[in-house]
Amino acid sequence: DFIIDNGYFETFIWAWIGLGVITFAYLFIQPAPYGRHASTHWGPMIPSWIGWIIMESPSPLLITFFLYQITPPFDIDHIGVWILAGLWIVHYIHRAIIQPLTNPGGNKPMPIIISFSAIFFNLMNGYINGRGLSVYGTHYGREWLTAPTTIIGLFIFAVGFVINRHADYALLALRKPGETGYKIPYGFLYEYITCPNYFGEIVEWIGFAIAARSLPAFSFAVWTIANLAPRAVLHHQWYLQKFPDYPKNRRALIPLNL
Ligand code: NDP
Repeated sequence: DFIIDNGYFETFIWAWIGLGVITFAYLFIQPAPYGRHASTHWGPMIPSWIGWIIMESPSPLLITFFLYQITPPFDIDHIGVWILAGLWIVHYIHRAIIQPLTNPGGNKPMPIIISFSAIFFNLMNGYINGRGLSVYGTHYGREWLTAPTTIIGLFIFAVGFVINRHADYALLALRKPGETGYKIPYGFLYEYITCPNYFGEIVEWIGFAIAARSLPAFSFAVWTIANLAPRAVLHHQWYLQKFPDYPKNRRALIPLNL
């Protein structure tokens, strides 16, 4: 029961999804140059905490803008618009504000070009999903709220959110203020995979797409996999090279023996 609106908007989103698939392949060859994959070849740098605030903020701002444009009444017939926009904003308050401001290694330099490319991504993603809420908003009423698919999707989102937050904070806790080096993380999903934060993020947006059942939400799930699955593989290879005692039973991203 995917929601379809036969206009240019959907053609545009399919093109965006196609670009996501190309990006997925490209990021195995050229990891986005920030964090451990940063280098000085990418031009001027800024402190990463500033970069993260600048690049992630357009996303919640655009959703808020579209919410303001729709101004749905706060009632059961529009409840889904509030829930989906609310989950988005809660996620991005962490990503764009709390995490950068609480990151002990936040002064580490990041290429400005990364900020700009991520601003582009967040403008596109925020526009597509914000506009999506206004195009498909009438589908998110009482029936939507009580549909099993919605409840399952929202539950998956919540599980992913908790995994992502827990895993990111476990990484930030490895450093003392001002430290920029790397240590081997242990505990919870780190016993099974190298990148539980990426795994949680992917689970989150798959859950969101299941709950929203719209092409915009599906496109974000595809892009999240495109951005993070290659990076998880490269992080994993990096740990194995850097730490001879890195646990050999850990997988990169998926905590299953497939
Ligand atoms: P990383 O796991 O690479 O790093 C997260 C933070 O932890 C960074 O500050 C990093 O420092 C630090 N860190 C990582 N590993 C260690 C270690 N072994 N020892 C000490 N400190 C460590 O995640 P990203 O920075 O790539 O992503 C941050 C968040 O943003 C994640 O939750 C991710 O899911 C999300 N994200 C979502 C995307 C999407 O498309 N939806 C795209 C990109 C990110 P340093 O910066 O110095 O490496």
